[in-house]
Amino acid sequence: MSAVATPSPELTDQKVYFRCFAGCEGRHSIYDVLYRCPKCNSLLEVYHDRAPLRDRNAYKWQQLFDSRASTTNWPFGSGVWGMREWVIPDLRDENVVSMCEGNTNLFWADRLGKQLGLSELWIKLCGNSHTGSFKDLGMTVLVSVVKQMMTMPDNPVQAVACASTGDTSAALAAYAAYAGIPAIIFLPAGKVSTAQLIQPVANGAHVLALDTDFDGCMKIVQEVTEDQSIYLANSMNSLRIEGQKTVGIEICRQFDWEVPDWIIIPVGNLGNISALHKGFRLMMDLGLINRMPRLVAAQAERADPFYQSFKSGFSDKTSVTAGETLANAIRIGDPVSYEKAVKAVQETDGIVEQATEQELAAASARADLTGMFTCPHTGVALAVLEKLVNRGVIKPKDRTVVISTAHGLKFTDFKVGYHESTLEGISSESANPPVYLKANTQIVKDEIEKRLSSNV
Ligand SMILES: *Cc1c(COP(=O)(O)O)cnc(C)c1O
Ligand SMILES: [Zn+2]
Repeated sequence: MSAVATPSPELTDQKVYFRCFAGCEGRHSIYDVLYRCPKCNSLLEVYHDRAPLRDRNAYKWQQLFDSRASTTNWPFGSGVWGMREWVIPDLRDENVVSMCEGNTNLFWADRLGKQLGLSELWIKLCGNSHTGSFKDLGMTVLVSVVKQMMTMPDNPVQAVACASTGDTSAALAAYAAYAGIPAIIFLPAGKVSTAQLIQPVANGAHVLALDTDFDGCMKIVQEVTEDQSIYLANSMNSLRIEGQKTVGIEICRQFDWEVPDWIIIPVGNLGNISALHKGFRLMMDLGLINRMPRLVAAQAERADPFYQSFKSGFSDKTSVTAGETLANAIRIGDPVSYEKAVKAVQETDGIVEQATEQELAAASARADLTGMFTCPHTGVALAVLEKLVNRGVIKPKDRTVVISTAHGLKFTDFKVGYHESTLEGISSESANPPVYLKANTQIVKDEIEKRLSSNV
């Protein structure tokens, strides 16, 4: 199953295939163990021929996706596999590895929106998913394809692997365990707490702690996966994008196929914004929608290479040494999916903006006071939202969606630290610690009265 640069005869009739994102000729099977273009080493993308998808008109596609959204008819109740024809059409039923991911709630953040002066602020809660982050959307696809590969003659793959300390390893470990495929997680010893890794630990993954740093782990995992027996699940793998692209389609479906004006998304390796754009592109090409939303990439100031590139008009790809940030899932200095994300921003008249640690913590706390429980990455997106509203870029009546990428419960250290006012360099203006009182009715009554009359 070696990579070929020109179509092999059995591939020419394939409707979904890998191709080089930089434009080299050639199609490659998505069941080949291949992560980059064999000619130029660029990222691959999964490409769907449009012609077969036009057999059904736009309205019929909308109806089909609508009808599956709440079904228990397996696997269509999954937000990803409900769009199966647009994801991996030839995947066999028995190889779909799904835990009913996606179909997350999109809710109207009425009170927070009003505080910011917006009449239509919506939050897409991608953290309400199986392992608590949007990474599930990509891993269900990657692990399903691996399961199908493992049934093919001459299959070399025996396990899946990634180097990650957070949401990626949690999702990979869960989906691999569900499928019964061994998962190997690489991490730098001493730099990651057991709590950060408790999901893969609980899911029975092989958790290998190496005496190196994160980049050292990435290097080892790439070397270990060279012989094709271990399949690499890090974000250069474009199969994950195919699952993640459903989030934009899902948002449109939830708006009865209307397109929001803005979508703000926190970004690190830039895979998710590329996926969001890819979903919208496909809907445009098939006539389900007739305009693009404007995409806003939100970065943490301490890890802002994409913001720096945007400031220079994308003349050059900037890399930085990413500093420590509360938003640790986007602490990335040299993003893998840079070229795809540039296209996403350019084709949607998009914007890249950044937020400081103080800004992200404050925005997260303010949102929580209106009933949310936001992770620090969502805080970055909300802080960027505030900036764009204050600058008059986002207008009061613009329909605006903020993508919340993970569940706040995965980041309790951040929450506890904020409300105990112990986060370094952060002033916790909205801290709301519990008050300790004697178990005396009068003291309790006095305290309640004091609090309610001061309109806290
Ligand atoms: C992975 C992740 C991101 C960043 O996504 P990219 O595809 O790397 O840009 C943002 N937020 C959370 C919670 C994540 O886990
Ligand atoms: Zn190429």
